[in-house]
Amino acid sequence: RSIHRFSTAAVLEEPITPPVQINYTQLLINGQFVDAASGKTFPTFDPRTGEEIAQIAEGEAEDVNRAVSAARKAFDEGPWPKMTPYERSRILLRFADLVEKHSNELAALETWNNGKPYEQAAKSELPLFVRLFHYYAGWADKIHGLTVPADGPYHVQTLHEPIGVAGQIIPWNFPLVMFAWKVGPALACGNTIVLKTAEQTPLTALYVAKLFHEAGLPPGVLNIVSGFGPTAGASLASHMDVDKLAFTGSTDTGKIVLELAAKSNLKPVTLELGGKSPFIVCEDADIDKAVELAHFALFFNQGQCCCAGSRTFVHERIYDEFLEKSKARAMKRIVGDPFKKGVEQGPQIDSEQFEKVLRYIRAGRESSATLECGGDRLGSKGYYIQPTVFSNVQDDMLIAKDEIFGPVQSILKYKDLDEVIHRANATRYGLAAGVFTKNVNTANTLSRALRVGTVWVNCFDVFDAGIPFGGYKMSGIGREKGIYSLNNYLQVKAVVTPLKNPAWL
Ligand code: NAD
Repeated sequence: RSIHRFSTAAVLEEPITPPVQINYTQLLINGQFVDAASGKTFPTFDPRTGEEIAQIAEGEAEDVNRAVSAARKAFDEGPWPKMTPYERSRILLRFADLVEKHSNELAALETWNNGKPYEQAAKSELPLFVRLFHYYAGWADKIHGLTVPADGPYHVQTLHEPIGVAGQIIPWNFPLVMFAWKVGPALACGNTIVLKTAEQTPLTALYVAKLFHEAGLPPGVLNIVSGFGPTAGASLASHMDVDKLAFTGSTDTGKIVLELAAKSNLKPVTLELGGKSPFIVCEDADIDKAVELAHFALFFNQGQCCCAGSRTFVHERIYDEFLEKSKARAMKRIVGDPFKKGVEQGPQIDSEQFEKVLRYIRAGRESSATLECGGDRLGSKGYYIQPTVFSNVQDDMLIAKDEIFGPVQSILKYKDLDEVIHRANATRYGLAAGVFTKNVNTANTLSRALRVGTVWVNCFDVFDAGIPFGGYKMSGIGREKGIYSLNNYLQVKAVVTPLKNPAWL
């Protein structure tokens, strides 16, 4: 039952030829592009059509070993941790400038491999990438320890030292932005890196890693291994010579990598995991503005955001009007070839995610929720899904509990603040929340009561470099971005020296 018609014109047209070439498909180890030890490759796809774009070298355990050895040598013997912080900072800045120069090609590559609107990649994600590296370049020469008062005649100081080799595993929803969140702080602190990209989106990380070497990054400091989770990813997580692990992806995989890290060398782990974020529309809200922001909070990036506002809680007094307007807004959403100007929504990343989202939509249809609009694929090729809105959603329905990771908005009705606080918190996740109100007391009450890592009041998805991001509960461990992320890549050494010659000297 597809109850409303969407404009499929843009989807049915011939896909626009991406204005970029693919130059880098091998693994990047010790500053060189190399084939996988096995010689194996795997295809990477265009989500607009499901067709292959290129074959990519497939890294496995042996390649992870080679990459970790290069990173180990670069850390133990190489110039990177020994450089002055200012020299490191200069390289990060030069890199950011090069990325800025190449940002049109990079945005095109990101869109081609991921399906996100080109305008979003070019105007928001590339500038954020550059900003993040400027931000961390600024930190590189401002990391220092303390002088600590002692009880006896001792001079006590702390040194903040890099941890060593960082293993980083990133997802496919924001390939470049996730690269920046992880690589920026790790390099600013003087660590070396082996980064595994998501198997769906290997292209842009290889491109920017090449630019990093043009900017003067010494070989072995940043190694990129493309490949699959259970092979390359698991090898990295369990490697005895990796000193720290940072992961972004699903909560289930987060548990696996945490266990691998614990069972190998007990490396510290930071995790950015899934979410089921509430977006709470209070009864005093300007309804038109709330509709637009709630729509953005869910549908941005094809709904493929860990922090997506996927439970829209609306006060009962404004519920009916909010619902009608939300449905109208979803129906107007422009879905189509992400290279086309004005397109708001491209295809989902791959057939697996596409099928998974459609399964959740089926579960919603089979429940007592009401399908207000959407509910089907759009077009006949690629992974486009109609913007979908369910109303009358109850807390115990699958679509209200699980992370759908697609363009499916669930609208729930509530009566008062205590009730909505309780229901918003009744989830295993705790990544983010949106609050929409004109009342500062309501905003403060909700901000303090919600058990989440980020509360966006009258805004959503604000990701500035300095704002920490991370989850409560099963949404993760630790914080990325801002000053907080530096601690993930530093360890503290206490150095104690007597102030005068002790008896034993
Ligand atoms: P995933 O967690 O399986 O993949 C994320 C990364 O982990 C990828 O690089 C993957 O190769 C790697 N990985 C997978 N299995 C691994 C293993 N055993 N050991 C080490 N690394 C491993 O996510 P997915 O399968 O791409 O997507 C599934 C669901 O995860 C999505 O539907 C969504 O709900 C969620 N997700 C969340 C985020 C986020 O930002 N929090 C990002 C992507 C996906």
